[in-house]
Amino acid sequence: MEKEQNNLMETIISLAKRRGFVYQGSEVYGGLAGTWDYGPLGVALKNNIKNLWWKKFVDSREDMYGIDAAILMNSAVWKASGHVDTFSDPLVECTKCHHRFRADQLEKAGICNDCGGKTGESRQFNMMFKTQIGAVEDSSATVYLRPETAQGMFVNFKNVVDSFHPKLPFGLAQIGKAFRNEITPRDFIFRVREFEQMEMEFFLRSEDWEKYFEYWRNEMLSWIEMIGIDMDKVHELEVEGADLAHYSKRTIDFEFDFPFGRSELYGLAYRTDFDLNNHKLFYQDEGTNTKIVPHVIEPSFGVDRTLLALLLSAYKEDGSGEEARPYLAFNPSVAPVICAVSPLLKNKPELRDYAHLIYRQLKDEFGRVMWDDNGNIGKRYRRQDEIGTPWCIVIDFDTLTDNSVTIRDRDTAKQERVKKEDIVDYIKDKMN
Ligand code: ATP
Repeated sequence: MEKEQNNLMETIISLAKRRGFVYQGSEVYGGLAGTWDYGPLGVALKNNIKNLWWKKFVDSREDMYGIDAAILMNSAVWKASGHVDTFSDPLVECTKCHHRFRADQLEKAGICNDCGGKTGESRQFNMMFKTQIGAVEDSSATVYLRPETAQGMFVNFKNVVDSFHPKLPFGLAQIGKAFRNEITPRDFIFRVREFEQMEMEFFLRSEDWEKYFEYWRNEMLSWIEMIGIDMDKVHELEVEGADLAHYSKRTIDFEFDFPFGRSELYGLAYRTDFDLNNHKLFYQDEGTNTKIVPHVIEPSFGVDRTLLALLLSAYKEDGSGEEARPYLAFNPSVAPVICAVSPLLKNKPELRDYAHLIYRQLKDEFGRVMWDDNGNIGKRYRRQDEIGTPWCIVIDFDTLTDNSVTIRDRDTAKQERVKKEDIVDYIKDKMN
């Protein structure tokens, strides 16, 4: 049964909090707008997303170099990149209630979303967080928290070329935090002030940009499908004119049908030679012995938006009323818990001991394994369904004599008997 879209968002936010995926940032002090904390299941899901991304785009490729640059960078980087002058959003303030909005997010132009009062003139608001480095508070010591991971890769371009001598085309990849002082953070983890990005800068000869733009477009789609985001809800938007970022000649946004509307999930941008040129960096072509400034295609992925799109894509319910069964149909590769192990009864030491041995063995093999002996078995299944655990393994009295366990499948609720020594292969088989 399909949930109403608004209810779906509320359902996901409440499930995420109750079950330990995502908590409000600084909650015990009333929160801090635009920040969220990831709980044990959230961090597991996030790590799975990041590890799968790294495996697909860095480890399994021959032309990609991973880096991890500092979040604090010399302010000259942000001057050269154009962010100091142009990384801003139009800000308007209501003349009556003084609430502030992004001008392009007003429901009616010139009218306050909250009280219906008139909004004043729009002015540009730079979204970079500023802070001070060192003990002396003068302007020379201003630094910014990076608003994108991209610049960390551009400024390390020469370092990586000097260390590894890659031939064009090749890429740099990075996963890390980015910070933006968003005027109106909203929609749970969709628009936040502190978030994580997974980005690549793919350097190439200018004449090849169209070919590689198309190539990366397909790679991004293949990633979206691979991790289990609902492809029917993904749409490509060709970004035009004034909406193009200051550095881009062509951008495609991959949008997702979020319950609050169709919005950007990922971006793919042709950044030309804008960044390397501004940083006065170039590539020495050994073949022709000339200096060239490579052009760049940038596939950019938000970790938090990926996590939200995954929760929304995976949420399912079957049955109705008392029998309603909500579950998260995650792919096993991203599921925070791969399997849960339970003794049928909590207070039978022979079942517990046996179950514990299996639990230990599976934990050594898969890591993401949960012990669950609370309440009756039906309740345990429901709890595991709700957090998207693909398999529940139950040790019962028959196990003690036939050395087999029951494995129950999350999506079909079907159960199978599996020999103790075959459990690992059974799960590995299903994961592939
Ligand atoms: P938007 O138009 O939604 O503000 P953007 O076009 O400014 O996004 P990019 O600069 O292209 O976003 O950033 C790359 C990716 O980083 C986005 O596709 C998104 O996944 C993620 N991202 C950007 N801003 C935020 C944010 N405030 N909160 C969470 N994720 C974000």
